Amino acid sequence: MFTTASHISRRQCLTLVCMATTHSVLANTKADKRDFHYQDGPKDGKSCASCRMFSLSTGGVGVCAIVDGDVSPKGWCMAYSSRST
Ligand code: SF4
Repeated sequence: MFTTASHISRRQCLTLVCMATTHSVLANTKADKRDFHYQDGPKDGKSCASCRMFSLSTGGVGVCAIVDGDVSPKGWCMAYSSRST
């Protein structure tokens, strides 16, 4: 279905976000970071800090509406969705 994280289209990304959101709602859980290729650094200038799924929590870390656990504001995953679009 998908090629690589670097070649993901906007449509594929939206599909992933919908799938993850549906999964989270139905199972009342968040997705595993590995399923979305989460990394602690930015990718192509994109990072969690500018993603609409990110909320800053305490201690310089944040939480994500999709993936489980603490996420770095400098992190990134393939479900990235810009706040500005
Ligand atoms: S880039 Fe991924 S891990 Fe980071 S806030 Fe967005 S959806 Fe969550």
